[in-house]
Amino acid sequence: MKKTQSKSQSKAQKQQGEAYVFITGASSGIGAATALELSKKKESLILTARRLERLNKLQKQCIQLGAKNVLIYKLDVQNKNDVARLAQDLEKKKIQINVLVNCAGVAKGVELFQNSKGADSDEMIDTNVKALLNITRELLPNLIRNRGHILNLGSVAGHLVYEGGTVYCATKFAVRAISDGLRMDLKGTGVRVTNIEPGMVNTEFSLVRLGNQQKADAVYSDMMPLTAMDIANCILWCLSQPPHVNISELMIYPTDQASVGQVVRGEKSIKNLR
Ligand code: NAP
Repeated sequence: MKKTQSKSQSKAQKQQGEAYVFITGASSGIGAATALELSKKKESLILTARRLERLNKLQKQCIQLGAKNVLIYKLDVQNKNDVARLAQDLEKKKIQINVLVNCAGVAKGVELFQNSKGADSDEMIDTNVKALLNITRELLPNLIRNRGHILNLGSVAGHLVYEGGTVYCATKFAVRAISDGLRMDLKGTGVRVTNIEPGMVNTEFSLVRLGNQQKADAVYSDMMPLTAMDIANCILWCLSQPPHVNISELMIYPTDQASVGQVVRGEKSIKNLR
């Protein structure tokens, strides 16, 4: 984890008591859209991902939109030492965190399990499950102190399994179990836990999964998927509830996707219905 510090960052770090929204996977898709939407609400943000150049750009956009303070950190969530160091650094600087959005996640491949790569399975389990648990554990003292809110990016794949999705679906089933378990373990602390479960969202998700832009575009062809901003708005809605209301899970499908594998395209798509 390398830290980059701008002028606004060092100033922000002096403002003790300011509560921040911590977002993993902020360099793209749902994480980036959530950062932008929260900026309009004048929130303070901690944005993390591996692609620092993306975070630099996003930091400027967030400030322009009205974010109070924006700290950015190059962070591979799989690196336990770096995650621990960042959590300690934030504690040392007395930076308060009242929201954790666990967006960092990955799907790799759509091959049948017997043809799939062990390295792809490892990456999905290490990122979607082990890293999510680890970062949550490291930030929990801070979140408990601030009666915070944890939002995990699960998926409809956490409810229904599909062919070629054995491991990815297993990770999202795990995210659902983790969200439910955390809610139980954290009762009485004031910390809320929400599992956000989208269907098809047009982000870099399919490009990363399929490794090819043409194949990724085909996933969303002739239908109307959700946008990252749609999911960001759902996250903001969960956050806008009063402290006694915990949206435990929120499943969001595009109108064109009735269930996993149930997609309408062409003239039946919502974009073509008259
Ligand atoms: P995306 O555009 O590909 O974004 C994924 C984010 O995760 C990127 O910012 C990436 O940042 C970060 N990431 C991946 N591995 C990382 C690592 N080892 N360390 C740190 N950051 C890492 O996809 P998205 O659609 O926004 O996905 C966000 C979440 O929503 C994921 O958990 C995904 O499973 C879930 N979801 C997506 C869909 C969908 O259809 N798109 C549906 C249901 C659920 P860097 O590469 O810069 O590190």
